Amino acid sequence: MDTGTLIRKTRDRQQLGRDEIRWLVRRYARGGIPDYQMAAWLMAVRCRGLSAGETAALTGAIIDSGSTFDFSDLPKPKVDKHSTGGVGDKVSLILAPLVAACGVAVPMVSGRSLGHTGGTLDKLESIPGFRTTLGYRQFKRVVGRVGCGIMGQTDRFCPADRQLYALRDVTATVDSIPLISASIMSKKLAEGIDGLVLDVKTGRGAFMPAPADARRLARSMVRIGVAMGRRVVALVTDMEQPLGAAVGNAVEVVESIEALKGRWRPDLAAVTMALGEEMLLLAGRARTRRGARRLLEGALGQGRALATFGEMVAAQGGDRRIVDDYRRLPQARHCARFRAPVSGFIRSIDALGVGRLGVDIGLGRRMLGDRVDPGAGFVFSNAVGARVERGEPVAEVFAGERSRAERAAARLAGLVRFSRSAPRPRRPVLARVGSPGRSSGPPAGTSIPAV
Ligand code: URA
Repeated sequence: MDTGTLIRKTRDRQQLGRDEIRWLVRRYARGGIPDYQMAAWLMAVRCRGLSAGETAALTGAIIDSGSTFDFSDLPKPKVDKHSTGGVGDKVSLILAPLVAACGVAVPMVSGRSLGHTGGTLDKLESIPGFRTTLGYRQFKRVVGRVGCGIMGQTDRFCPADRQLYALRDVTATVDSIPLISASIMSKKLAEGIDGLVLDVKTGRGAFMPAPADARRLARSMVRIGVAMGRRVVALVTDMEQPLGAAVGNAVEVVESIEALKGRWRPDLAAVTMALGEEMLLLAGRARTRRGARRLLEGALGQGRALATFGEMVAAQGGDRRIVDDYRRLPQARHCARFRAPVSGFIRSIDALGVGRLGVDIGLGRRMLGDRVDPGAGFVFSNAVGARVERGEPVAEVFAGERSRAERAAARLAGLVRFSRSAPRPRRPVLARVGSPGRSSGPPAGTSIPAV
């Protein structure tokens, strides 16, 4: 085999065999293919695409580049959730303990902020002492004892993805459905889970803004999971505006704890509960969505989900007293307010703009190795659709420097739109792809079309 021939085949839309793809990935991971040739192949994929079979082969080759987790001795179904990334997306912090409190093991390998989107690891690391770099055995102990754990990727886990991702990042080849599918699914399938629920975001703040592309990505990932013998379901959810009230690290931890205490915005509740229902159905803990919802509501209402969150924080070295005392979380030194310039209804909040503004106040990284500011963030006191009077606060901006907070608050004026009449409410969950097999009946909360 030679690399030039494989590049030419993909460029000319001829399919590569499974062995050819494995050879390419293995050789690149071992340093046997220079970056310029791999970049040429990635660009050929970006422009010409890959078949479903090729995408599955690429996923398998990336998994085989490292080691995988084995949770087979845990006597519980193992199900995870993965989001393609959003603004204010704190669902994992709520969902992992919530679903674990319903008797499902949730071993979650998460990521850091990427571009304008937030990262679960950055949010958790705002909790004093919380460790996201755990060894395999430690992680397994946490999941076994608590029911859930959230850690970052290690060097042994899909190393080819890290190399390919870094190359894609600088060669304009990130936004490719087969490459994103293989990258995400390889990491998830290497976790040793039985089932996976994907939250594919669409809208201005998502990596796939067009709903049709988001549905294509969802179908591609579900197909890979099914080809690898896993039960996979994807929900396509709205990321036109930030999810919930808070955008940041510590501020999102606070909102997540409030949610676990039963106080949450309807959009955050709708997305979290819909994903939770799918996880319980995949795990076989419920036969219907209605039954799954009852289990989730029970775990919330009886305080078991909140207790599980506290146990996970403690098991991963964090200060569990934050659950009752938010002052133990990092606080920004300065706060500025954005007030409504007119009376009326909040028509829209630009999720992409807020995400980018967030990077300016320290929520994300501009360069590898940049430190995030755990206390910085936004808290929107009113959601889209709310009626506000002129001068009423719409958002608080927290930052380490007064000038940054004030500048960001002023720039929110270009990102929040107002109207005289109430805007049409947006559906938080837009579509469902895949089938858990045993599910039946309409979704408990909303009506979600299958695609
Ligand atoms: N997240 C990933 O892990 N990989 C991608 O390619 C895009 C988002």
